[in-house]
Amino acid sequence: MSTNKDGSRANGTDQIGKLFVVRSHGLRECLVCGELFTQQTARAHAQVNCYPLVEFCLLEPTQGGKYVTD
Ligand SMILES: [Zn+2]
Repeated sequence: MSTNKDGSRANGTDQIGKLFVVRSHGLRECLVCGELFTQQTARAHAQVNCYPLVEFCLLEPTQGGKYVTD
């Protein structure tokens, strides 16, 4: 196993774990956060961590002892 013809695929750690849906006008919608990106910005966006917008709703519970109406 010493023959190394093509080592272009040496490091396969360039996998993008993000899914994009192609919309009209070549826009891509991130399935994680739902934002729209162009082909270039989508590639850059795939390298950053984004979170679903629903998470913001879950961060603030409506029940609790915050509002004490007298
Ligand atoms: Zn996203």
